[in-house]
Amino acid sequence: MIDVNAIGKGILKKIQGARPEKEERACGKIIASGDGVVHVTGLHDVKYNELLEIKGGYRALALNLEHDSIGAVLFSGDDKVGCGDYVYSTGETVHMRVGEELLGRIVDPLGEPLDGLSEFLTTEYRPVEFPAPSIMDRGKVNTPLQTGILAIDSMIPIGRGQRELIIGDRQTGKTAIAVDTILNQKNENVICIYVSIGQKASSLAKIISTLRNAGAMDYTCVVSSTADDPVPLQYLAPYSGCALAEYFMYQGKDVLIVYDDLSKHAVAYRTMSLLLKRPAGREAYPGDVFYLHSRLLERAAKLSEEKGGGSITAIPIVETLAGDISAYIPTNVISITDGQIYLESELFNSGVRPAVNVGLSVSRVGGSAQRTSIRNISGQLRVNLAQYRELAIFMQFGSDLDAETQKTLSRGAKMTTTLKQRQYLNYSVKDMLVLLTVSQSELVDRIPEKKVESFNEGLLDFIRVNKQDLYTEIDPDQKLSADIKKKILLIAEEYINCSMGVEQGNLPIGVHAEA
Ligand code: ATP
Ligand code: MG
Repeated sequence: MIDVNAIGKGILKKIQGARPEKEERACGKIIASGDGVVHVTGLHDVKYNELLEIKGGYRALALNLEHDSIGAVLFSGDDKVGCGDYVYSTGETVHMRVGEELLGRIVDPLGEPLDGLSEFLTTEYRPVEFPAPSIMDRGKVNTPLQTGILAIDSMIPIGRGQRELIIGDRQTGKTAIAVDTILNQKNENVICIYVSIGQKASSLAKIISTLRNAGAMDYTCVVSSTADDPVPLQYLAPYSGCALAEYFMYQGKDVLIVYDDLSKHAVAYRTMSLLLKRPAGREAYPGDVFYLHSRLLERAAKLSEEKGGGSITAIPIVETLAGDISAYIPTNVISITDGQIYLESELFNSGVRPAVNVGLSVSRVGGSAQRTSIRNISGQLRVNLAQYRELAIFMQFGSDLDAETQKTLSRGAKMTTTLKQRQYLNYSVKDMLVLLTVSQSELVDRIPEKKVESFNEGLLDFIRVNKQDLYTEIDPDQKLSADIKKKILLIAEEYINCSMGVEQGNLPIGVHAEA
């Protein structure tokens, strides 16, 4: 029996799925070409952000839709494309390849592999530009995203679905914080996407090898556009990364995306705009540079439970010049994000690394997502540090200090040292609880300032080797009980007595820990 209906349906499906051949699609001609920009006439049904195809297989992005011509930027082959070449519309805006397969891979902003490994099998794509989730679709930021960095998790906590800016001069450890955060997501069930925008290829290679060696590529995708890539690719990279992040978020997963960095992104966009002869505004950036970043960062969200509860946590990075956070791009991005981690070269050079300026750094929504245990114990930290810094500046002018002031100064200096942290040395929540408890107790008075760093490391090792039961007792989601605090301090005292005490020979032994 022949099923006529089935045949009819089949034919209909084929007709609907058919794509017109190039010749049948609208066709125009290039009338001017230079610096990676082409002007095309004869194309009338082109959308903003539509992908155009040029004879020879080159592709361009339509950005200026004018009355009688179209301005488009080329993704490649600007030396091969010339006046008179035919241009075809595709009817599609730019799409990014998405799928689980991209994890562990390095791709360009169009989703093509750059790592020389196998081609992708996935045929799923998502539009690079996509509306941000609406207000009703959003949930509350209530789950912490642990960075593993004590200074950040204790004082500038980040929640899943938050946008936290890392800002600072060049070479102040901005990338290091982002990479450490990715490494810390190893067993946290968070998918990571690292978007490199206009970076040196050598820096990117270093980051990738770090991620590989630490086994972090299993859950990470790197979207790469290096400094020598065409400007349109650098412009697209963050949006492509975000499209990939959305793919996972709408499946209910948690995603962390790092944009390294948005200053270079703004510069790429400025280059494109100037070449397209758009009017220039402040610092020669075009007028819509705010929208450039706001529409990107608004796509980071925590979805409501009805929408699956997925999240995108965005960590954009912005580079400042000589610490000037009131420049155009920094102020824009600061006003879009939910807080910033401000890094200072002065601190960095004096050895305080990560060089977080606690006074200028904030997290506007992360507080409610911070773990109860850490929040409870680090509440006073920020105030104490601020007091210490003020006192330290004031005391530069005088030398006669009473005992109380000396104590405050010495404790502040030791706390600052405790907050120093080597790269790739991530603390677990329990490590942090131990360090915060000890460093805010009277026990620190017995540790010489120079030994604080080795003491902290030694203490954590000592607990891991000899006192594992302490870690099984600590519940990171509960406020530390007085009993556990006492236990931590007793262990710390034991460690002081058996290591520092012996070494120093002159430390009083048997000072009792406060309860
Ligand atoms: P750029 O402006 O070039 O992108 P950046 O601000 O991203 O620089 P990084 O590349 O992260 O800075 O770090 C600069 C240097 O400082 C690197 O050599 C890095 O190894 C070192 N560094 C960063 N953080 C720390 C740290 N916590 N402890 C020790 N060294 C660090
Ligand atoms: Mg960097």
